[in-house]
Amino acid sequence: MSSNGETIVRSTPIRLSKSCIGEEEKAAVLRVLDAGFLGMGEEVRDFENDLQQFIGTTKAVVCVNTGTAALHLALECMDIGLGDEVLVPTLTYVASFQAVAATGAVPIPCDVLPESGFLDPLDARLRMTPRTKAIMPVHYASNSAAIGEIYALARECGLRVVEDAAHSFGCYREGHRIGVDGDVICFSFDGIKNITSGEGGAVVTGDMKLAARIEDARLLGVSRDTEKRYSNMRSWEFDVEHRGFRYHMSNIMAAIGRTQLAKYDSFANTRVVLARNYQRLLGDVKSLRLFEFDYDYYGIVPHIFPVRVVKGGRNEMMAVLRASGIECGVHYYLNHNLSYFKNRKNGCRNAESLYSQLITLPLHPDLTFEQQSYIAQVIEKQTRVT
Ligand SMILES: *Cc1c(COP(=O)(O)O)cnc(C)c1O
Repeated sequence: MSSNGETIVRSTPIRLSKSCIGEEEKAAVLRVLDAGFLGMGEEVRDFENDLQQFIGTTKAVVCVNTGTAALHLALECMDIGLGDEVLVPTLTYVASFQAVAATGAVPIPCDVLPESGFLDPLDARLRMTPRTKAIMPVHYASNSAAIGEIYALARECGLRVVEDAAHSFGCYREGHRIGVDGDVICFSFDGIKNITSGEGGAVVTGDMKLAARIEDARLLGVSRDTEKRYSNMRSWEFDVEHRGFRYHMSNIMAAIGRTQLAKYDSFANTRVVLARNYQRLLGDVKSLRLFEFDYDYYGIVPHIFPVRVVKGGRNEMMAVLRASGIECGVHYYLNHNLSYFKNRKNGCRNAESLYSQLITLPLHPDLTFEQQSYIAQVIEKQTRVT
């Protein structure tokens, strides 16, 4: 604010999210370009080994070219397809829904818990049919604390669980990193996630038969082509037993990913410090309600910082932020309201009311305290006029 109370509009907007790439990533890409093997090879194998070690698991880690591909292959290779249903929270990126649809199965939009945005286990139970094959909980805003009930439900009903952990790479749950516990866990390394490999994703599972099938399916279904690629060769005579896709990760992507992984602690610390600073700045602002993750970001590395506008209108707040040079977003437009996934008898009441209040504030490792103070001032000023 200037001294007369007018909001100064910044010349360049404060970014909602962004990739944080340095000289190290550029050098890593050049190293791969100079080596002359751009596609899938040793670098991808090394990234998978690095990820396994970082997560602290003996489970298989299979890298692919997007988080969406990771989700799709997880379901596809469980033989989920036409005639099947998968339970998904409606409050998620459309990627989760399209990954289910890509198998031929139907994504069933489920309601979420009002306080966390996480899949509501009671609602999921009500939407179960004999066609239900899997549950896909989403770690909304990196929080998956309530997942125990989802696994209990899955065990009781004989369902697989595919965790959409796109927001929570590197987070801890009950003392272990995400990926250590659970059935199948899928990460995204797209440009703005906790780490990036340019684009990219990974499937983590202790089901070694499933992992082997995913390894083949990412390379057009060519049996055991992965082993060949990791010694910079390929298969010339081979069999194909299942449908496959062109979903493998490239050495270029893996080189970026490995460099980002080495910077994880620094990115993570910054994200947590920024999120706590938002809590301090905005905790008492009357127009907002923060998500009260009761662990105070202990073990949680927030990918996004959504808040609820409870007074004065979400759209009004968004307009003021944007006019003040602050990018903001809404995570997420509800999937059951999309034409392709329309579900008329839906009744996801918590998600609907949450959606009407949601706004996501800027969060990325290059955000500064000074920018956060400015964002808080703009929000406080708007709160006073409503
Ligand atoms: C980013 C994201 C995905 C998909 O990951 P991509 O790598 O972009 O394909 C899936 N689900 C959620 C919740 C995400 O945020």
